[in-house]
Amino acid sequence: QAATLRSDLGPLLDQVGTGKESLSFMRRRIRRLAVQWSAAARRLDNRLCSRWREQKRILVHVGFLTEESGDVFSPKVLKGGPLGEMVQWSDILAALYVLGHDLKISVSVKELQRFLGVPPGRGNCPLTGRLPFDLIYTDYHGLQQMKQQMGISLKKHKCHIRVIDSFGTEPAYNHEEYATQHNYRTNWGYWNLNCRQFMTMFPHTPDNSFMGFVAEVMNETDKRITRLNKVDSMAVVYGKEPSMWKLQGKEKFLAILHRYMEIHGTVYYEAQRPPEVPAFVKNHGLLPQQELQQLLRKAKLFIGFGFPYEGPAPLEAIANGCIFLQPKFQPSHSSLNHEFFRGKPTSRQDFCQVDAPFPSMNASKSWPGNPPSPFILPPNSSALVWAPNITAPACWPPLSAMQLLLAQEGVSCVGSCQVEGLICEPAFFPFINNPEAFTGLRVHCEALEAEVNHIFPAVSVEPGECFLQKEPLLYSCAGVQAKHRRLCPCRDFLRGQVAMCKDCV
Ligand code: UDP
Repeated sequence: QAATLRSDLGPLLDQVGTGKESLSFMRRRIRRLAVQWSAAARRLDNRLCSRWREQKRILVHVGFLTEESGDVFSPKVLKGGPLGEMVQWSDILAALYVLGHDLKISVSVKELQRFLGVPPGRGNCPLTGRLPFDLIYTDYHGLQQMKQQMGISLKKHKCHIRVIDSFGTEPAYNHEEYATQHNYRTNWGYWNLNCRQFMTMFPHTPDNSFMGFVAEVMNETDKRITRLNKVDSMAVVYGKEPSMWKLQGKEKFLAILHRYMEIHGTVYYEAQRPPEVPAFVKNHGLLPQQELQQLLRKAKLFIGFGFPYEGPAPLEAIANGCIFLQPKFQPSHSSLNHEFFRGKPTSRQDFCQVDAPFPSMNASKSWPGNPPSPFILPPNSSALVWAPNITAPACWPPLSAMQLLLAQEGVSCVGSCQVEGLICEPAFFPFINNPEAFTGLRVHCEALEAEVNHIFPAVSVEPGECFLQKEPLLYSCAGVQAKHRRLCPCRDFLRGQVAMCKDCV
């Protein structure tokens, strides 16, 4: 059956349902963006010129919202709890729906059972017959629940699964046996999926797929009005929970800033007990998203205090014409030294609160004289919905885009490609895992072995021993080790569209 673009989001709102504050938040977001989704659907329809697309049967199982996983989020929605995940899930639902797919949504194990065709009370049994979905979007909680319901048949169907995973999962943590033997075993990893099946909130490592989220785009008139209405002396602090304001040294910083600017906050508080923020802060309490956008349209600065990490708010602030200031982390924060990242299946080091490829903006140059123009990165994830089967052997992106590099000692392929203005492309690893790749880079190999190690193919610095990769699941852009120089398959990308290369379009 053909997928036809949909511009009426009403039926989706009915499908999302009610009964939980988290679902209400998602419905509000979808409703608020409905006009923009409809316009986008119409634009895309024109661009596609009625090209035939297959309608996929898609299950979206939001594991973290199920009672069975504890659903710690829903009660916190109105109290400053993490909303970023809900922003992303709303946008995924809206995108899949607008693209015309046959969508089922589940936020309980009971619904999951019903959709998968598992008889109630008969969990952990192999599914008989075919999986009734082409794709299943879920999260780590949902994956665990699917395993409980499907038993060993999960393995058979796992290439249909996409895991929404904000912070990302690196190959060394994903491979069960390797993770167990080499100290990469965490609470979350070791599912032996293809790492491209993990979809992240920000583009951390290309080993995973970058799903992203929607930040609103202003039309030219709104941009002009926003620029005119900016209040030079107005700053908004990034932090909904009082604890985010208590980070060391922030009081002094706020006091100095307050000499020059009016400081606004959106900190949650209960009527009897206002939050412990300095008295000069104009606190609005937790705002509905639309009102937060209005506040950001007036403000000139959006100030990060180091936490929360990697949420949508800074991009929203930039899209509304704010300059985002954030502290640098020295040393960097990672799962090795920081409680928040501990147990997350990544060794990524964060050097600041939102370590994402923002457009470079020189704050001192553009402020307070010239108000910055609202800026928004072009959508990244649209290509993913149609991307070919990401677990199939690579035929996309085209090999002609590949540029092979020899990394410096102790540098990952993410970093090596980045230095050259390129991006690491994990789909190309199988094509460089051969002796010819070393020859092509003029590496003289004293010996050549094939081993299971997440940094291979690579050459040891001393005595020049070359290693090929024996386990395809361990091809890794993120991997890094001192005393080895890695072979890195890089490619170019379109500005703001890292999923695409020049030869891809
Ligand atoms: N948000 C909101 N009201 C507020 C503060 C934030 O609706 O008073 C929204 C904001 O628009 C953003 C989302 O909450 O889209 C997530 O915020 P954040 O970046 O703080 O990420 P989180 O830590 O919640 O994942």
